[in-house]
Amino acid sequence: MIIIQNYINGKFQSTDKNIEDINPATGEIIASIPKSNSNEVQMAVDAADKARKGWSELSLEERTQWLDKIADSLESRSEQIASLESLDTGKPVSLARAVDASRSVVNFRFFADFARGYSPEKFEMDDATNHVILKPVGIAGLITPWNLPLYLLSWKIAPAIVMGNTVVAKPSELTPLTANLLAEVIHDVGLPKGVVNIVHGLGSEVGQSIVEHPKINLISFTGGTMTGRKVAETAAPMFKKLSLELGGKNATIVLDDVNLDEAIPGIARSGFLNQGQVCLCGSRIFVSDKIWDEFVPKFVDYVKNMKVGDPSSPDSDLGALVSFAHRDKVESYIHLAQREGGEILCGGQAPKLESPFDNGAFLEPTVVTGLSHLSRTATEEIFGPVVTLHPFESDENAIEMANCTDYGLAGSVWSGNTDRGTKIAEKIETGMVWVNTWLHRDLRVPFGGIKDSGVGREGGRWSLGFFSEAINICVKES
Ligand code: NAD
Repeated sequence: MIIIQNYINGKFQSTDKNIEDINPATGEIIASIPKSNSNEVQMAVDAADKARKGWSELSLEERTQWLDKIADSLESRSEQIASLESLDTGKPVSLARAVDASRSVVNFRFFADFARGYSPEKFEMDDATNHVILKPVGIAGLITPWNLPLYLLSWKIAPAIVMGNTVVAKPSELTPLTANLLAEVIHDVGLPKGVVNIVHGLGSEVGQSIVEHPKINLISFTGGTMTGRKVAETAAPMFKKLSLELGGKNATIVLDDVNLDEAIPGIARSGFLNQGQVCLCGSRIFVSDKIWDEFVPKFVDYVKNMKVGDPSSPDSDLGALVSFAHRDKVESYIHLAQREGGEILCGGQAPKLESPFDNGAFLEPTVVTGLSHLSRTATEEIFGPVVTLHPFESDENAIEMANCTDYGLAGSVWSGNTDRGTKIAEKIETGMVWVNTWLHRDLRVPFGGIKDSGVGREGGRWSLGFFSEAINICVKES
């Protein structure tokens, strides 16, 4: 069993109480993590506070070199990242390798390169020059979820430290293994102590203590909308800088001019990648009634052929869900769909697997039809391998249906005509829309949601801006 400790002030430290970490594919206990509380958060804040001056006085170039060192060290441990992530989350190791391990390295490299390319803005007046400089905010509190553990943690830590902030981070208590690996990497490369502190524990204890700590000046939170609301309630009256990356219920719009054979693999990937546990997953699929009869059997056939099973097998398209409690929640939505009059076209059950996976938190990819687009199943975030199909009559009708939820994170439009697809994309009320693709990421672009999907943007210059205070110095010619 792996014993995980907090990483505070450059030291690994344990606590009296611990939490068990379970492999959801087998139900086996794989690790124990500290059940920290406000005392450990205070120690981490003290360390981050002490490190602030020295770290912020390094030049931007010097800090980018630290990011490069972390990226190189992480890259040398890529295979270990992939296997720990798969063990902790239940996701296929092939996915963890292609997405989680590689993106974590890329996040550090990207922000190092991007910050090196940054040049301060200057605005000339007739008689004066305005110099806009970016200063560190102070101590950044970073809180992350379980679906893409190191991918999302590195997405926050890299820009936070490159801009001169120090960090107190809390990974999800369900998936702590790769945050611990990152602490080892940070320790091995010799990053000055106190610059990055990682405190493990429950959201209600460690997360809440971070959000309410008066010395933490900035909160970047990724997680569920309900939790985000609580974070905002605490942080907003304290005037902290706040970025909230929250839930989604994303629409996939399939137009009548699409090439179905080309589009269906992408549409299925968008519904079921990571067992449907990506905030961007397209779980409401709106299909033109002109191609409905052709689309539905082809799509269902494709989904039926997706293989669920052993996360370490290269043949598995889907692994286990993150926990038994989460699978219960997703199953409760399948039952709700049936009560709401939906028809299950495929899936809906736990697959029959051999030991040691026979008691794992697996669920077949599930396709439901026959529901109103306004039903609870089709408007609430399920965050699992469940999609609903809905026919539409016209482009306007598709846009109206897509925009009917309280969420506004992402979406995708699939069409043989990119102009038509793009025009529809512009009318979708979300922070991001893809046309004929999904989760095709350029790290320079803004990432974030509108409505109940969040506040603020991260990515590229939006991250550099969020993790800094823009200060204007106006110099009048003498
Ligand atoms: P969650 O909200 O339950 O937990 C997220 C993190 O917040 C965890 O580390 C948790 O311990 C912590 N937390 C819980 N209560 C807290 C509190 N009171 N104060 C501070 N922190 C607290 O979310 P989850 O179940 O881990 O993740 C799934 C959700 O995350 C989904 O809704 C998904 O859409 C969303 N998500 C959003 C994005 C995005 O970029 N928009 C990305 C990934 C996941």
